[in-house]
Amino acid sequence: MRPLGIYIHVPFCLRKCAYCDFYSGPSGEAEREAYVSALVTHIKDERQKWLGHTVDTVFFGGGTPSLLTPNQFHRILSAVAENGALSSEAEISLEANPATVTLEGLKELRRAGANRISIGLQSACDEELKLLGRIHTVADFDLTLAHCREAGFDNVNVDLMYGIPAQTEESFAHTLDFVTERAPEHISAYSLILEPGTPLARRAETLQIPDEDETADRYDLLCRTLSARGYEHYEISNFAKAGYRCRHNVKYWQREEYLGFGPSAHSFFDGCRFYYPPDRKSYCSPATRQILFEETDTGLTDAEEALMLAMRLSDGVDTARFFAEYGVDFEAKYGERILPYIKGGLIRKTERGYAFTDRGMFVSNYILAEIL
Ligand code: SF4
Repeated sequence: MRPLGIYIHVPFCLRKCAYCDFYSGPSGEAEREAYVSALVTHIKDERQKWLGHTVDTVFFGGGTPSLLTPNQFHRILSAVAENGALSSEAEISLEANPATVTLEGLKELRRAGANRISIGLQSACDEELKLLGRIHTVADFDLTLAHCREAGFDNVNVDLMYGIPAQTEESFAHTLDFVTERAPEHISAYSLILEPGTPLARRAETLQIPDEDETADRYDLLCRTLSARGYEHYEISNFAKAGYRCRHNVKYWQREEYLGFGPSAHSFFDGCRFYYPPDRKSYCSPATRQILFEETDTGLTDAEEALMLAMRLSDGVDTARFFAEYGVDFEAKYGERILPYIKGGLIRKTERGYAFTDRGMFVSNYILAEIL
């Protein structure tokens, strides 16, 4: 049975954060219920697609999936499981924002099958949270984390952000101390991007935006601090205690198959990349739902795409596997091109091939563009 990941997009948030350009927005209970009903019907209609697969990861992302009721979560998961293809060992993750879930709700989610939770903290400084337009405080996070633990979640991710306007080295160090003291199993940390059209981008001129050097310093601090505290830096933006890599996200980087459901959800299945446009209304009706195929004209071959994705991981590229899957001799093709980066300490030789160093990861996009 081929393994398969399922992604469920939940396009609802209590309020938009000032930097966010994901497809999500405010909603009422009736809208959420109508969406869940349409989603469940769609999943059931599509089940024949993954006959012969075992679903070994399900990821509820958004948006704010924790706005779903446990019953809605259960109905969606049951639709996925109905054809018997959901592995009993499946990783079932759910994104949650502080102050959007109660202890009782978390217990029910756990009973319904969720076994991993990802909490969006972003910063342990209330001033920074305010600037980002987050709806919660640091104290709200603490309460939500305590409730997650009490509800039985023993696989918790915390999302952080660096490069926040006015964030200092001290304030980021404080955030890292705060989070590591609470010992989540997994930490993701992304650099803030001022996406055009967002409220934060519109105010860019009035903000103290860290420059590239400062952002690189924060990244360096992030990598050093987390590895000193027992987290493996396994992907550019992801850190985990042993045995707690996010299995669903690893599929993306290992070019494994996944099917996404919901407006703006992307899929990679049977060698094709496709997605549903970010429009909830059209998604909810089979008559108007569209599937769009992603441009294949990126100029990248499958081998190059696989290389770009694999190099995001600290395991890097396995040259024997790369040859077996794509017929490309990595050393013959790229050996000369990567040499300056090996000498510069940005790429390292591993047991099975090549990978970026921590420093290299920060500039990986640039290096890969040069190499490819
Ligand atoms: S909670 Fe997440 S998805 Fe929702 S607005 Fe904020 S950043 Fe965007």
